[in-house]
Amino acid sequence: VAAPLGNSVIPIVNKLQDIFAQLGSHSTIELPQVAVVGSQSSGKSSVLEALVGRDFLPRGNDICTRRPLVLQLLQTKRKGGGDGGDEEYGEFLHLPGKRFFDFSQIRREIQAETEREAGGNKGVSDKQIRLKIFSPNVLDITLVDLPGLTKVPVGDQPSDIEARIRTMIMSYIKVPSCLILAVTPANSDLANSDALQMAGMADPDGHRTIGVITKLDIMDRGTDARNLLLGKVIPLRLGYIGVVNRSQEDILLNRSIKDALIEEEKFFRSRPVYNGIADRCGVPQLAKKLNQILVQHIKSVLPGLKSRIASALTSVAKEYASYGDVTEKNALGPVLLNILSKYAEAFSSMVEGKNHEMSTSE
Ligand code: GDP
Ligand code: MG
Repeated sequence: VAAPLGNSVIPIVNKLQDIFAQLGSHSTIELPQVAVVGSQSSGKSSVLEALVGRDFLPRGNDICTRRPLVLQLLQTKRKGGGDGGDEEYGEFLHLPGKRFFDFSQIRREIQAETEREAGGNKGVSDKQIRLKIFSPNVLDITLVDLPGLTKVPVGDQPSDIEARIRTMIMSYIKVPSCLILAVTPANSDLANSDALQMAGMADPDGHRTIGVITKLDIMDRGTDARNLLLGKVIPLRLGYIGVVNRSQEDILLNRSIKDALIEEEKFFRSRPVYNGIADRCGVPQLAKKLNQILVQHIKSVLPGLKSRIASALTSVAKEYASYGDVTEKNALGPVLLNILSKYAEAFSSMVEGKNHEMSTSE
């Protein structure tokens, strides 16, 4: 299953990785983390799952996410790459070496591990759960699912639960490289949005905040989210995307992500009010927007990569020169640098929309 997140970025990153591998180095591009922020049950976990394209996060109409889940996606080589092959599996930091091929099993383990640390009665802990997902279809990126904001302590929660959760969320989203998905349900007032309030504090310029409006399917009759999505209610530099995730009933009926995406598309297609703004509607558009930001990020670090490669080559050349020996490796350097330069040019024009595909034939 190809994850919507990263599908257009993967070929670019792979190409860069190949170049680095030829240089005998694996240092490549560090992509920004993506974290979700919003009130409890606003749909944060649902949005992350849809982006990854797999069912594995605890979701529901109650406090489900009670510890930060740091989800590291790791790309494995396709067939022939040996270990792992084309299979997708998860591995937890707290259970090293144990591979989870069944994603519903991953969900159960997240729940069990949540209880181990935060108890069985709605307690919240800031101790991370770290999960790696290995798959040939993902981009190497880290996503963070966070507990949602709540106001009133329930179960075993302490009286200062709101402040605690705020501090926890802030510690993730204040990181200047973190992309923030600020999730607000369409059936609540945007002016009351915890997500936008916190994102606004962490990222006042709005350079790294994307607004996500969920639950467009259960808005009050006679209302729609057009003005929200157009940024007419609260403007946001990077704009808003509206989505329809699975309802609680869909979860109980075990409806798949694939079916949910088809339903979402039908939803938007059948409502004239969203017709003119299709680029702001649906999980695939959210993935596209994130991919564009990642491409922009890669573009911004390319010059640094180029100079790093250049200096690596110089030192390799020097080392060989000191042996008084001209080897193949010396000759290889300029060729690789040349490839990377060409690549960077093609890349820039792709980013600027001049051509849609990277030329790989040089
Ligand atoms: P979180 O607490 O923010 O992580 O929210 P969840 O992803 O756990 O979702 C909370 C509840 O809202 C679940 O029952 C979901 O099925 C439901 N939900 C999330 N997004 C949507 C949506 O777009 N439409 C509908 N109808 N329900 C949704
Ligand atoms: Mg959640």
